[in-house]
Amino acid sequence: MTIRAILTYPDPALRRETDTVAIFDTALQQLVNDMAETMYDAPGIGLAACQIGVSRQVIVVDLSEKKGQRNFMPLINPKIIDKEGHQIDEEGCLSVPELTSKVKRFKRIVVSYQDIEGRPAEISAEDRFAVVLQHEIDHLHGILFIDHLSSLKRRLYKKKVRKMLSHEASPL
Ligand code: ZN
Repeated sequence: MTIRAILTYPDPALRRETDTVAIFDTALQQLVNDMAETMYDAPGIGLAACQIGVSRQVIVVDLSEKKGQRNFMPLINPKIIDKEGHQIDEEGCLSVPELTSKVKRFKRIVVSYQDIEGRPAEISAEDRFAVVLQHEIDHLHGILFIDHLSSLKRRLYKKKVRKMLSHEASPL
């Protein structure tokens, strides 16, 4: 298992529509393991493949309560097939450093996906779990949580990033 570099905004790879997975082989297993390792190292509770530069419909999530216990779940080709209600919760993203904000999401969702062996499955999620799944599935379509914010908040963040990047580029 390898910890991979996480791409950050405004990397264009985060904005691409990702490809459906058709082949369920050891390379996919390897990708999922690397994603989990990268997520735990960050640390985060969810990661999409495009965040490490792989343009495929693969996400991993781990919402287990106990610290230090690894119980991650890979979802291949996940799709929201049903949704209900609304909730507002604080979100952050490993690819959007130094920002958290309240985002409006569906309260309950049903997601269809394939497991690591390609078997079709469905999962119902609500509350925080539903938030994480919606956030990660957004990534697969090039959507970041900042896209759900007001244009003012988004503008302020873009300004901050430009400032951070110009600091990185300039010598001391
Ligand atoms: Zn994210």
